[in-house]
Amino acid sequence: MGANILSAVPSRFLEMPGYEPIEPIDVLALELGIPEEQVLKLDGNENPFGSSPVVARALAAFPYYHIYTDPEQRILRRAIAQYIKVDAAGVVCGAGADDLLDIIGRMFIREGTKVVSCPPTFGMYTFIASLYGGRFVAVERHSDFSLDMGQMDDVLRDGRSIVFLASPNNPTGNPLSRNEVEQLLATNATVVIDEAYVEFGGESFVEMISRHDNLIIIRTFSKWAGLAGLRIGYAVMATALAEVALKTKMPYNLNAAAQVAVLASLADTQTLMERVRLLVAERDRLFDALSATSWLKPWPSQGNFLLCAIQGAPAKEVWSRLREQGILVRYFDTPQLRHCLRFTVGKPEQSKRLLGALEEIGASFAR
Ligand code: PMP
Repeated sequence: MGANILSAVPSRFLEMPGYEPIEPIDVLALELGIPEEQVLKLDGNENPFGSSPVVARALAAFPYYHIYTDPEQRILRRAIAQYIKVDAAGVVCGAGADDLLDIIGRMFIREGTKVVSCPPTFGMYTFIASLYGGRFVAVERHSDFSLDMGQMDDVLRDGRSIVFLASPNNPTGNPLSRNEVEQLLATNATVVIDEAYVEFGGESFVEMISRHDNLIIIRTFSKWAGLAGLRIGYAVMATALAEVALKTKMPYNLNAAAQVAVLASLADTQTLMERVRLLVAERDRLFDALSATSWLKPWPSQGNFLLCAIQGAPAKEVWSRLREQGILVRYFDTPQLRHCLRFTVGKPEQSKRLLGALEEIGASFAR
């Protein structure tokens, strides 16, 4: 071997921690020694109803998988613009919301750029900051997970920054208020609001884009439309910015199947939104059931998940006991969340299995 090949790689790539992904269902089933269909996956905020039935039919009938997709994404951008009632010129699509975060990172973050976010939140924001050499500044949320607006104002007014905030926030479930968004925009920072879960609750701020060119909204088809595996998301921004984004993204970042699936989903929003309503009702039922259990304290949530404090037992232990039974939930090994678990909202029978398992675990702790 000659000189270490890794010395040719920028050192920040060697030093940065990777994104911590959730484990795929087949890998887990193999590891736990149980059939895939017995794995209850409540760790990824995925949609338990799957995609619209129209999607599979449209995918089967599509004749052009051998042809490259449109780098300008014209048909898709128009369809999405109609769905959210904005100008198509400001819409940019990508392989999931993550791809849009990457495109935005590429456009706005260079060595030393101040990248602000408010933990506990989605881990991808720190990942994007380190990918592009930004200087990550964490403005921790208050103990009720609301933003520390005084601190945000100080941090954002001091030089040019980009701020990433999810609304509703993952994993805490609380949304931003219009007032907070107005205040953040007034600092002149570039404000990226990730509305991945907005179909489940909270207010969308997308119509504010026409008045604020420092606002970018990110949305996805992964959650409400059940297309997480096909990877499709989009961002809405000022037209001039969208032109740059379209130029700097990879030309074929959208695959043909994702495109077909989105058009089919947008033609069947009635089915999909009915499922969203069922999930919202189930979220509220699960919230009540967890609240009624003495050692569990869920936080109110506007997303398709509930963050739940575990009292009187280590959350990691509960996570591991659930996992042994094939029930996968999310544990975060951070000081703010070490006593919590995040449960994705499933179908009623899935909540029942989760609650039954929790009851059993609680009883064993009491002994
Ligand atoms: N934003 C937030 C807040 C999320 O929680 C997630 C998924 N965990 C994403 C974006 C990623 O969405 P996508 O599947 O569209 O990349």
